[in-house]
Amino acid sequence: MPIEPASDKVLRLDHLFIGGEWSPPEDGGEINSIDPSTGRVWAVVASGGKGDVDRAVASARAALEGPWGHMPGHERAALMRRFADLYQARAGDLAEIEARDSGRAIRETRADIGSHHHGYHWWASLADKAAGRTIPFDDTVHAFTSRVPVGVVAAITPWNVPLMAAAWKLGPALAAGCTVVIKPAEQTPVGTLELGKLFEAAGFPPGVVNIVPGYGAGDVGEWLVAHPGVDKVAFTGEGETAKAILRTGAETMKRFTFELGGKSPHIIFEDADVEQAINAATNSAWTLCGQSCALGSRVLVQRSIYDQVAEAFCSRAAKVRVGPAIDPHTHMGPQAHLAQLEKTLSYIGIGRSEGAELLTGGERLVSNTHSAGYFVQPTVFANVSNDMRIAQEEIFGPVAALIPFEDEDDAVSIANDTRFGLTAGLWTRDTGRAHRVASRIRAGMIWVNTYRFIRWSTPYGGFGASGWGRENGIEGLDGYLDTRTTIVSTHGRFPDAYVD
Ligand code: ADP
Repeated sequence: MPIEPASDKVLRLDHLFIGGEWSPPEDGGEINSIDPSTGRVWAVVASGGKGDVDRAVASARAALEGPWGHMPGHERAALMRRFADLYQARAGDLAEIEARDSGRAIRETRADIGSHHHGYHWWASLADKAAGRTIPFDDTVHAFTSRVPVGVVAAITPWNVPLMAAAWKLGPALAAGCTVVIKPAEQTPVGTLELGKLFEAAGFPPGVVNIVPGYGAGDVGEWLVAHPGVDKVAFTGEGETAKAILRTGAETMKRFTFELGGKSPHIIFEDADVEQAINAATNSAWTLCGQSCALGSRVLVQRSIYDQVAEAFCSRAAKVRVGPAIDPHTHMGPQAHLAQLEKTLSYIGIGRSEGAELLTGGERLVSNTHSAGYFVQPTVFANVSNDMRIAQEEIFGPVAALIPFEDEDDAVSIANDTRFGLTAGLWTRDTGRAHRVASRIRAGMIWVNTYRFIRWSTPYGGFGASGWGRENGIEGLDGYLDTRTTIVSTHGRFPDAYVD
């Protein structure tokens, strides 16, 4: 099934990848994937029904109990490496697909997807290293632990970074020896479905990875979460969706990892290299059109440099080229789908009515280049106070909220005044202050004098409402492993409890 991502014709992908084979949906339907740069359907993709979910879970179970479950770690690693090489070779196509499917600018998708093979190789290197430990007790027993795969994983991914989210789940799941049914978001199913070809070409046993596009609530997502044959759900998305997943999955006692939202503080102290801080803070406000949970959507600026930073935000905003994602000149593509565009515009309205000062942006772009796409201007609000909704709620649009602070304590207290706790950035030339502030911020990842440095080897995940568990890093493997403790008697005697 060759794909022509650059074609103007509507692409049709009418098969699911289940049990190592491409099959039409048994009882599913199809999804129209809209290119948010044009507002038009660019691909029609098969979506699964209940019967397809059953088939996929059964295939994953059979692979777990069959060839994959018995395969030594180093052989699994070899297959994963082959997949990583094939992924690298297709990275350019995958980057184009993601630009069309999600609206993320091609210069960003190329950089991101062009690095994923490193991650898959890194996970491959862990496939034979999940060792247990021996437990000292006394000489009557030999006690030890083994790390065993949790089993069949349902990976449910979001629409902002579909292939990155897939890599963050497939990598550790396969390294741990699990099998997977992956469901991409209904808005962006194409790239993930393409991965089936690479798993097939790499020679994975049938059923190790199954790909079933579909919707979430009342559809493939929910059926997977409810399915008694699924052991774990690895989810990236919204907090409210995570709560629904928790409720559904409670019945079958699923394991969960949740990577949810953020409202990350990006703190700029007056002693920072302000130019560098502005580079990072503006980029982290508008990258991905603001649609990433890691972005520094709350920019905390020390009062003495507040006006300077606010002016710089406005002059940078004027330089951002907003356009079709597939155009290499574009800095910032559209919002990924219409509902997200409407959400962002509504939050901009909320910010205005709350009394924040709109310095620049705030409008949908509708010129010729933008036509019916879901484009919005890079937007900057000044004089935001941290209790405003635009500072507390995740907007997921290119909207920076500039919040002034007085001193270190004030910065920390504003930074921590959030129910989220995913990431944070801080800029200062004072090493002592860097450590002091970093250690006081409640967030799963802190960047000092840099921002959004995220790699396969660096554990990523949140405190509080930002999620459960970690993805990436050696810690990322833990979510896909259970611990079995084995106690062996060294003398084989067991007294009769009923002798007298
Ligand atoms: P958004 O609301 O921003 O689209 P979601 O968190 O709803 O983000 O979606 C992330 C992923 O979760 C998507 O793949 C979506 O289909 C899936 N999803 C949504 N609702 C459910 C649900 N109730 N059960 C399982 N998966 C769901």
